[in-house]
Amino acid sequence: MRKITIAIDGFSSCGKSTMAKDLAKEIGYIYIDSGAMYRAVTLYCLRNNLFNDDGGIDAVALEKHIGDIKISFRLNDITSRPETLLNGENVETEIRTMEVSSKVSIVAALGFVREALVKLQQEMGKNKGIVMDGRDIGTVVFPDAELKIFVIASAEIRAKRRYDELTAKGQTVSYEEILANVVERDRIDQTREVSPLRKADDAIVLDNSDMSIPEQKIWLKNVFDKVTNV
Ligand code: C5P
Repeated sequence: MRKITIAIDGFSSCGKSTMAKDLAKEIGYIYIDSGAMYRAVTLYCLRNNLFNDDGGIDAVALEKHIGDIKISFRLNDITSRPETLLNGENVETEIRTMEVSSKVSIVAALGFVREALVKLQQEMGKNKGIVMDGRDIGTVVFPDAELKIFVIASAEIRAKRRYDELTAKGQTVSYEEILANVVERDRIDQTREVSPLRKADDAIVLDNSDMSIPEQKIWLKNVFDKVTNV
């Protein structure tokens, strides 16, 4: 069967990665979490003290070092889940902390960061057979993707999902803090000048506010089957 490119975009914490990962596994495609790449660059900035006291970023210093930041993925043999590597180090857990979440949208708004990561993402998808999730996958990274999904859900539901996910991992977090972070990231992602979050004209909208994970999985597989069986 011919392989296609699948772009899954949407707001923070709306379950994109879960459905994208599950579909990729089921159909034997590569899965790439583009948000993890922006998170890894943010972790690099935190480790190298590139954030100013006022919360802004030293963009000049970051631009100087952007070529030294190598991001890759590998599959964990035991969990079969993808892990994000920053210069060869597994940072999968560290990039999911609230500290990274609270700074990532500032880093993701920088044009030179997007340029470097989009180039890498396009390289990863050049042979098709890929499911990538993010904010600009259907609009900028793969504008010709054969299947584009745009996922939406209320901010409260998304915050509750993120809260459950982080507490299940043993992190101590507050629901209010997560909700504020989700709303703030949505705002920055939608209003930034470079590649703002928006639905591609040819994307299918999925409101998964009242859907379970298995229901989403079935919905996505059905849409995929329709697109590939024509
Ligand atoms: O998907 P996730 O919530 O992990 O993404 C973290 C952040 O990375 C987003 O809030 C957004 O600022 C940025 N991002 C982006 N473009 C993408 C993927 C993520 O700007 N394609």
